[in-house]
Amino acid sequence: MGLVVQKYGGSSVADAEGIKRVAKRIVEAKKNGHQVVAVVSAMGDTTDELIDLAEQVSPIPAGRELDMLLTAGERISMALLAMAIKNLGHSAQSFTGSQAGVITDSVHNKARIIDVTPGRIRTSVDEGNIAIVAGFQGVSQDSKDITTLGRGGSDTTAVALAAALDAEVCEIYTDVDGVFTADPRVVKKARKIDWIAFEDMLELAASGSKVLLHRCVEYARRYNIPIHVRSSFSGLQGTWVSSEPIEQGDKQVEQAIISGVAHDTSEAKVTVVGVPDKPGEAAAIFRAISDAEINIDMIVQNVSAASTGLTDISFTLPKSEGRKAIDALEKNKGGIGFDSLRYDDQIGKISLVGAGMKTNPGVTADFFKALSDAGVNIELISTSEIRISVVTRADDVNEAVRAVHSAFGLDSDSDEAVVYGGTGR
Ligand code: ASP
Ligand code: MG
Repeated sequence: MGLVVQKYGGSSVADAEGIKRVAKRIVEAKKNGHQVVAVVSAMGDTTDELIDLAEQVSPIPAGRELDMLLTAGERISMALLAMAIKNLGHSAQSFTGSQAGVITDSVHNKARIIDVTPGRIRTSVDEGNIAIVAGFQGVSQDSKDITTLGRGGSDTTAVALAAALDAEVCEIYTDVDGVFTADPRVVKKARKIDWIAFEDMLELAASGSKVLLHRCVEYARRYNIPIHVRSSFSGLQGTWVSSEPIEQGDKQVEQAIISGVAHDTSEAKVTVVGVPDKPGEAAAIFRAISDAEINIDMIVQNVSAASTGLTDISFTLPKSEGRKAIDALEKNKGGIGFDSLRYDDQIGKISLVGAGMKTNPGVTADFFKALSDAGVNIELISTSEIRISVVTRADDVNEAVRAVHSAFGLDSDSDEAVVYGGTGR
């Protein structure tokens, strides 16, 4: 049997009991004949608490020092987990991201992995140890400083190590039983998905589904590493994310027409009012935005009023970038030429995702019908080949998700969606 990489999130190792439970599970995999590398997140809400603490001493903490601080969270859980495993009579060694060979660029707080050289991990497991690795962190190739990979980055650590170690599978243990057809915190009747293709999972992640991070799925697809998302609280089979369906006993797993409904309330909408309807205007607006290193999501341009020759352009972006975007546009107001800016952070986005959309023309109409039956007004629309997204009032989002989920027959017969832990913070 080969090597497996297992990743345990913060809610799975939230306290001593959790750490002991996880230790047992890891030892189980080892007893079954696997070489095991376990990647851990910081305990519970540790990362948030450390950020709060940093902000109490400095409103805008220096990136380098914030990374130094945050990586301590994962160090605590990795060391405790190694101790717990030793207590069960098995040998374990913990490693920081840097010791595990996770090499990144030098962008503090959201570094990208550029290489993984897991020599020490390989040696450790070949010598019969269980290797425990601190997630979410690496070391910059240039500055040699400690970096972090962005919130939720431990999943990416796990997939990157799985790729570098040529693992059989990357198991991501979390506080729900897998990937659901909607967020089980919002839709009680959400169904667990047995298998989902990388493409659909990427769209769900990009649309606000929080089970797996977009970057982690992207990495897994690039190196073709199957991910098994499952709960560390139950023994159930979770969700397989891979390029081809995974055989599950005699159960026939097929590509669903609709994979699920995702929602996102972390975005805001900027409207640039009174833009001259002539070539180069959109280019100037989005050049200003991109120069400020802001990623945007949807864009809509209105038809210009014939009498004025002016139009409005709206776009959505993370709320956290709102201030920066407004400043960047104001600064370039003269050059771009517009009347005013409007900023709205009371919006939400609902997305329907499924590869079957390509061949089922009725999906769009059914989606809008479900929203209108629920009395939800649509403000913006965008589509890809396998996704339809709309922006609505933030207050309408939960209702809209439930309505769409039902309309597409995704509701399960039972309330099977269990959320085992986590504060959802
Ligand atoms: N502890 C980090 C965070 O909370 C990384 C992770 O959990 O994956 O974002
Ligand atoms: Mg966490």
